[in-house]
This record gives sequence, C-alpha cells and structure tokens, in this order.
Amino acid sequence: MQLKAPIRDSVTTINKDGSRYFVHPADVRGFWTRLRRLAGFILIAVYIALPIIQINGAPAVFLDIFHQKLHLFGLTFLFQDLWLLFFLITGLGFALFFITSLFGRLWCGWACPQTVFLDHVFRRVERLIDGDAPTRRKIDEAPFTSGKILRRTIKHGIYILLCAGIAHLFLSYFVSIPELYRMAHLSPLENLASFLFVVALSGVLYFNFAWFREQFCIIMCPYGRLGSALIDDNSIVVGYDSKRGEPRGKASNSKGQCNNCSSSENCRSDKSIGDCINCRRCVQVCPTGIDIRQGLQIECISCEACIDACDAVMEKLGRAKGLIRHDSLNALSGKKPRFLRPRLFIYLALMIAGATAFGVATQKVKPVVLSALRMQGAPYYKEGERIRNNFMLRIANKRAEPQSYTLSVVSPVAGLEVAGGNNQKVTLPATDELQEPLILTLPLANFLSQFEVKIQILGESGQVVIERAVPFLGPFRE
Ligand code: SF4
Ligand code: SF4
Repeated sequence: MQLKAPIRDSVTTINKDGSRYFVHPADVRGFWTRLRRLAGFILIAVYIALPIIQINGAPAVFLDIFHQKLHLFGLTFLFQDLWLLFFLITGLGFALFFITSLFGRLWCGWACPQTVFLDHVFRRVERLIDGDAPTRRKIDEAPFTSGKILRRTIKHGIYILLCAGIAHLFLSYFVSIPELYRMAHLSPLENLASFLFVVALSGVLYFNFAWFREQFCIIMCPYGRLGSALIDDNSIVVGYDSKRGEPRGKASNSKGQCNNCSSSENCRSDKSIGDCINCRRCVQVCPTGIDIRQGLQIECISCEACIDACDAVMEKLGRAKGLIRHDSLNALSGKKPRFLRPRLFIYLALMIAGATAFGVATQKVKPVVLSALRMQGAPYYKEGERIRNNFMLRIANKRAEPQSYTLSVVSPVAGLEVAGGNNQKVTLPATDELQEPLILTLPLANFLSQFEVKIQILGESGQVVIERAVPFLGPFRE
C-alpha cells in the first residue's frame, strides 16, 4: 500500500470515504526514544506498585469502595471527606495547564497511560510478532492464509491477556490486591459485579489498544483539545525549522559530496537548498500519521519520534541535528521567544493555591468521626426519681494507625451521670469504628428545662479533638 501523504485539511488516519487508514509507525532509535521508553517502563512499574506498596498500613493508592475510604500516600479519607480532593484535583489540573503552557503536550507523549501502554507494550508485542512497519502493512493487505491467521491469533491472544491484566490491575485500586487474589480463586458468580466490570473493561481496552489506538488521542481525548488553547507561540513544542529545511533538497551523494558540484567537502554550497531532503522519515515514524513539516497540529502528541528520525538522517548526511527539535513556534519562525508569560504565572499561582488549600484543609479535617443519634423509642424515660436519655454513639478512626481517645460528657446541669462512667477510654484500630449506646441519667429534681450536653472526644494530652452537642430532654415543668 502506498504510504498516505498527510495534508492539513483532513485527518490522515481517516480516508475520504470515512474508512480507517491504519498507521504503522516505523521503528526509530535515538536519544528521545530511549528516554521515553525508560520513562514508560518506570511508569508501568509505578502503576503496578501503587496498589501493592504499603504506606501507614494501607496501599499507596486505594479507593476502598467496600469500606468507603480513600487511601492516598499515607493519608486516609472517609468518603465524606472527599470534598478535599476538589482542591487536590484542581491543583493537579492547573499543574497540567502550567506544564502544557511551558512544554506543550508533554503529558501525552510521556506520561499518559494510553500512550505508555500503547507504545511500550502493545506496539512492542505487534513488532515482535508481525515485524517492522512495512512488513505489518504487507500482512494487513495480504489475504488470510494459515500463517496470517496464526499470527493474528497469537497477537490478539496476547492483547486479550494484557488487557485482562490491565483491567485486573485497575480493579486492584478499588478492592486491594489480597481481595483481588481471593476473588480470582472463586467462581465468577460469587463476585458477579466485579467479574462483569473486568470483562467489560478488558473489552474496552482491547478495542482501544488493538484497533482504536491514536484515534482516542485525535478524536476523543478532551485534554488534546484543551492543549490547543493552552499552547501558545512561546510554548516549547516539537517543531520543524522551515527556515533551515526549506526549500527541500536532496541528500549528498555517497562520497559525501553534494549534488551541485564535485567538491570533496560536504560544503552545502548551494544555499538556495534547505537541509530537508524530503526523505519522509519524520512522517513514517509518526504514530498519529502527521507531517510535522506542515506545522504544529492537534494530532501531535509530542512523542519526539520525528526528532530522533530526522536527527539520524542529519547525522548520516553530516549536517547539524535539530532540523526538527524542541523549540517555540516564535523561535522556529525567527521571532524572539518569550519564555516567561503572564499565563504561566497565573497557572502557577492557581496550582500553588490548590495545593495549599488541600494541605490546609487536610490538616483541619478531624482524624476522628463522632456522631450521637437519639435511639428509637421515647425521647426520654422516667424511672422513679431519674430521667434517662438514650443515644447511639458512633466513633470512627480515620487514621491508618490505631488511636486512643477519652470519651467525656460535659453537662451544664449538676447530677448528670453517664452509664459506665464519664471519661471512658476508647481504643480504635486503624480506620475502624465503634458503635455503642450512651445512656445519660439525671435526677428529676435537677431537670428544669431542656439543655445541651456536650459529648467530647479527648486526645491523649486531654485536648478536645471533636465535640458534638445533643439536647437532654425531660418532662415539661410548669
Ligand atoms: S526526516 Fe528530516 S530530512 Fe527527512 S523529510 Fe523529515 S524533516 Fe526532512
Ligand atoms: S509529529 Fe513528531 S512528535 Fe508529533 S506525534 Fe508525530 S512523531 Fe510524535
């Protein structure tokens, strides 16, 4: 199949008739490819490690849906505290804005799980089984023979296993690794919802990584669209130096001579010819099928493959590297670039504000939950010369380590007694909770009208950690 020539008016990966043009990016070697691969493998290791490594007795990242808790790098939040994440997510969002304004779609090419898994896992499997890009294209076009069917079966079998593995890894962020292991040994019918979730997610992942691929980045990803608004002419992006590259010329001949004279030096004497030899290596390696020489495009995920490809060509020709390089659009067009811009300071300020608000709010959130609800039945009971009010107490330890508290009841009216005695010691295991009745009694003679009783949880040094007020009720007095 003839390689499609990208144009700016339409997406390369969609043919005129609406059918899919499947991109097989050519192999590329070079500094950025090696660095990106290393970053990809480190990130995959991090994705796998986060639900496994323990911090303060809980996985580093664990959204425990059964117990309605979120464990985040040693901090534990109950679901009622999840509003705190608003500040964290906002801060992270503005951090992404900041990075995008500075360095373009760095996230897409280097850290997005879509690219990480596609480039460093699925494309590697495909390369291993089907061969390099031209061979893959030939196999695509070839009729189905037993050899092709075998290759396809092996490849898609591995894809399905990988997708199931990723889906299980994803589930482990919600149910924990030990629980996932336990569930995996039971019949699917015993955990039907989780089983169906994994099957559905594996199916979606398989569709994405086996076929949809770069279409997700081009058509679906909202960040890709947002990137266009965040990047300006001073952002550092992957760009082609058209001043140096155009008009496109030819490579020197095999003796290192240019085609315009017979000098033994690679002198590039014809200054009317640019450095780009129109070899199209930058197009062949592009995973989204664009030609970066046509300028920055929304499809570019900043994967740097075209930089390495062009640098290798330039090196072979004995020309300076960097015809395609990281630079701002202003610098590439000969204008003075401006690194520090107002939008950077605004994003930075908002990022710091989000992080600060999260830090402060996290400190303010109580490490313990206390609630006291009046028990069902009569609002109060009269027993001889005493009145009794019954409450159900709930105390929950939000910390990932055991905590000891003192339960104290403070009354403005003398004679109030707590069943079991005031100042009771309570020890709660990590992220555990306790529910027990709280029975308060008062001599009838001391009750003049309804009053408020304060229920307090005291810390180890006697400070009030949390306090709730409940009304003490009794008979109406004339
Ligand atoms: S790889 Fe470099 S020399 Fe070859 S077409 Fe692209 S920009 Fe031109
Ligand atoms: S243009 Fe270059 S950096 Fe952008 S996606 Fe294509 S190969 Fe990657």
